[in-house]
Formats: sequence, C-alpha cells, structure tokens
Amino acid sequence: LASTIYQKEKRTVQLGDVVIGGTTNHTVLIGGPCSVESEEQIRSASELLKSLNLSVLRGGCYKPRTSPYSFQGMGLEGLKLLAKMREEYGLAVITEARDATHIDEIIEYTDIIQVGAKAMYDQGILRACAKTDKPVLIKRGFGTTLQEFVQASEFVLSGGNPNVVLCERGIRTFETKTRFTLDLCGVAWLQEYTNLPVILDPSHAMGYAYGVAPLAKACTAMGVDGLLIEAHPNPKVAKSDASQQLNYEEFTALKRDLETVAGAVGYKI
Ligand code: PEP
Ligand code: MN
Repeated sequence: LASTIYQKEKRTVQLGDVVIGGTTNHTVLIGGPCSVESEEQIRSASELLKSLNLSVLRGGCYKPRTSPYSFQGMGLEGLKLLAKMREEYGLAVITEARDATHIDEIIEYTDIIQVGAKAMYDQGILRACAKTDKPVLIKRGFGTTLQEFVQASEFVLSGGNPNVVLCERGIRTFETKTRFTLDLCGVAWLQEYTNLPVILDPSHAMGYAYGVAPLAKACTAMGVDGLLIEAHPNPKVAKSDASQQLNYEEFTALKRDLETVAGAVGYKI
C-alpha cells in the first residue's frame, strides 16, 4: 500500500489545520524537548512554538532508554501535561509509545502516535496503531533496512489506518564520531518509491547540537514533509539527550534559516 506502484499520488496526513505530505510543499517543523520533565519546561516549549508560529509539540513521556538507571519519563503525568498544552495553546502533540501496555493512553492523549526506532518491530504497538485513525509516525530502527521499515508501515496501513508518516532518524554504521548516520540516500529512495510523507530527525541522528542546524538545512533542501528537532530551555540539565538538544535561541535562529532554504526549493516551513 505504501508503494508508488500501488498508488502514485502522495498520501497526506491531516492534523487539525496542518497537512503533512502530498503536494503541499510544506515542511512541518515539529519541536520540543526529548522528554517532558515538568509543567514549567513543557509550557516554555509551547510558548516557543507559538511565538514561531509552529503548531506541533513533541515530548517523550515513556522513554525507551538504553539503561534502566536513566530517567524513564513521566509516564501518564507527562501525557496529561501534553494534553493540557494542547488545550491551552492549540498545539498538536506527539509522543512515543514504548510498548503496547500503554498504547491506549498514548492514543487517548496525543494527536500523533510516535513509534520509536526501538519500538518499530513491536507488533502490539503496530497492530494497535492500525485500529485507530490517529496519525502514526514510525521511526526507522537503526539497524533496519528500507524494506523492513516500509513493511512496518504496512502493518498499520493494511490494518486499516492510512495515516502513516515515515521518519528517518539515523542508522548505525561503522562511524562512531557521530551518534548515528543520517541516511539521506534512503530518504531519496523513500521519496521515489513510497507514497507516504517522509520526515527527518537530525537531532537523534547527529547526537550533538552542533550538527543539528546544518543537517536540518540539508534535509529541508531535499523537500521533505517535515523535521523533528529537539529543543530544551536549558539543554545542559536535560534529563535525556542533553548533548543534542538546541536551546531556544538556536532553535529560533534555525527556524529563520530553514525558511530561507525552504523558499529556495519552493517550500514553506
Ligand atoms: C525520541 O524521539 O526521543 C527518540 C527516543 O527517538 P528514537 O526512537 O529515534 O531513538
Ligand atoms: Mn530524544
């Protein structure tokens, strides 16, 4: 169903007033912290987005951490904060399902369900996502081929939910200087051979804030349907992904630069 052989026209995913994908020539900039940490923190991110005329807020509540000793996220309390921000600021919110035990909560409280790089093989999550009509953003696993990535999306599409967005967030290669390697060749392939909206996440790919803006500009020049960028009021003290999150000044400057790049390829941010 995701193949351009089956359907040539690009699919769109509707999110309130925002349309992701299709031929809208719109790169939707999704921003916010890696994790929801407190009301004050997520409110500051909401205010940042509003001030920049952006409408989709991210924030993890169930974090799929590599270590059990790291911050695991605020859980349901975090989801409620996201829902409160949606209510007060009119933002759409996206958060990640770590496993199938809390998928119903995620569906209830968010506007886009994020299936993370580590969770994209979880059949419980994929099958639950197929049964709702909420948009689902599937991230490519870091050891996942493009074929396997698209097949994960087919579980949701064939199960009855057409609202799938693909997200490239870096794959594991022999290189260790950066956290992952952003596969822009893979993105070109997805744009050519699938009809699904494709968005990019340079934050998790790079792993370091210094590379996020240049990569985001490169992605924007490819005419992608969206970007996922992590931003935190004080990245140094972030409870997860401290090294890669942009501060608000950097995020604001990046948004301005992306408007220029997007304009050059006939896109809007
Ligand atoms: C995230 O978006 O915070 C995240 C954990 O991403 P990924 O699944 O790409 O590692
Ligand atoms: Mn993160």
